[in-house]
Amino acid sequence: MANPSETSVPGGPPGRAIVVGSGPNGLTAAAFLARAGWEVDVYERNDRPGGASASSDLLGPGTIVDLGAAGHPFGAVSPAFKQLDLEAHGLQWTHPTYPSAHPLEGRPAALLHRDLGATAEGLGRDGAAWRLLHADMVANIDQHLQNLLAPMLRLPAHPVSMARFGVKALASAKLLTGLAFRDEATRALFAGSAVHATTPPASPFTAAFGLLFNALGMTTGWPAARGGSQAIVDALVSVISGHGGRIHTGHEITDLRMLPAADATILNLTPAQVLRLKGLDMPRHTRRRMAGWSYGTGVHKIDYLLDGPVPWSDERVAGAGTAHVCGTIDDIQRAEAAAAKGRMPDRPFVMVCQQQSADPTRATGAAEGKQVLWSYAHVPGGYVEPRPGYVAERIESQIERFAPGFRDRIVGKVEHSPADLEAWNPNLIGGDVAGGGMAGLQSVFRPGLTLHPYRLRERGLYLASGATPPGAGVHGMPGYWAARAAMADLRSG
Ligand SMILES: Cc1cc2nc3c(=O)[nH]c(=O)nc-3n(C[C@H](O)[C@H](O)[C@H](O)COP(=O)(O)OP(=O)(O)OC[C@H]3O[C@@H](n4cnc5c(N)ncnc54)[C@H](O)[C@@H]3O)c2cc1C
Repeated sequence: MANPSETSVPGGPPGRAIVVGSGPNGLTAAAFLARAGWEVDVYERNDRPGGASASSDLLGPGTIVDLGAAGHPFGAVSPAFKQLDLEAHGLQWTHPTYPSAHPLEGRPAALLHRDLGATAEGLGRDGAAWRLLHADMVANIDQHLQNLLAPMLRLPAHPVSMARFGVKALASAKLLTGLAFRDEATRALFAGSAVHATTPPASPFTAAFGLLFNALGMTTGWPAARGGSQAIVDALVSVISGHGGRIHTGHEITDLRMLPAADATILNLTPAQVLRLKGLDMPRHTRRRMAGWSYGTGVHKIDYLLDGPVPWSDERVAGAGTAHVCGTIDDIQRAEAAAAKGRMPDRPFVMVCQQQSADPTRATGAAEGKQVLWSYAHVPGGYVEPRPGYVAERIESQIERFAPGFRDRIVGKVEHSPADLEAWNPNLIGGDVAGGGMAGLQSVFRPGLTLHPYRLRERGLYLASGATPPGAGVHGMPGYWAARAAMADLRSG
């Protein structure tokens, strides 16, 4: 996809960089700077790098569980990851039969195929409308990605494509699907993709997420990383250390004066964490902008060990990397609106990932024959359940609606409430996986309205996280753009 002027990092004199946090964005910034000859040190509070792209054997020996991100529609197309050639450092993308499935009660599931024609064909009388809605995105996906994986307040690389996208993207998923489709199944399939924004589908701009996630699914797909999302982290670490960079785990940075002097200090944090740092030298207007940042809906995550595959009523759902479990678009709207207003829905939106459908390494040895199932429910930000098991009952009831007998297959599970997630990774404030709410203008202008989203002051201090463009996801683009800003500043200085 590369437009070299957009994706190559400017040269210039090597400097010294400090990166606080080793999530995919911190590591991507570090990798680009180390590759350009900078002396790079990364400080990470946890005992291993990776942030919300780490994996472990959480469910026992032989299991590989993604602790955060599971599916990688953006990782697979990331210009940053391509430039770093992560595949030469061991990363392998692996594809399920279908990128996603949307199970429905009493009727076949709606399926997103890795092909526009096949998806449209499966949608019966809505097929032509589906094709019409997505044709431009699918045909010109590279141009759209160049527009969208970058700061929004600038002239887009492809203005005509941006205008074509914008006309549809500004709408809510509810409005767009109401106008375009006649079948509940098609509306639900679109809404399932849109709700990756963790925002009710009746909110403005949610159509943008539906269009983009669908177009990625129907082109490059939504792959998993073979061996776990940690493989992305390991590849980034390999690039960094191959160029002499150092990663210091077990180092929580609370005061910037703890750090050695550097030409660039890059904070892989979200705004509330930045404001908590001592020794922060930042102009008042930037502080105000950071203080105005808000956090959104949280997630309550449960990883299950099953003694066999999920007994989906529609067996094809087992071949999907991601299943959107909630029902119709109205069911999704009710669930998301309640969570956004601070009420725990009885029937929450549940994201289910079945990486094992693409990657047999997820259960081997002692776990041979078992299934590792990744799930989370959208819950109010910071939600505390009234008693243990309250959210689990709701997640399991939702899956049972579309896979009767699911509960009988459970042989183990590990839960992470929003507070557990935040204790593990302080970037997940109140369980918000996006580094800040995705409602309204915050979904586009991150962090707030500024022409310099990565600079926290004129030079020397930078922000690279899901709170900066293009936002959440494991793609490293905020890290790439922050590294670019640091190199440009050193060169001009
Ligand atoms: C449960 C869950 C599911 C997700 N699913 C997907 C998915 O399927 N696909 C997808 O693309 N994205 C997904 N995401 C989102 C994605 O993981 C994040 O957007 C991405 O990891 C953000 O990267 P980051 O580098 O900005 O920050 P993070 O990955 O959050 O990393 C931040 C790092 O900074 C460290 N840190 C924090 N404070 C300090 C400090 N003071 N000193 C030192 N270190 C510090 C943390 O320990 C952490 O390692 C998911 C996230 C979660 C939590």
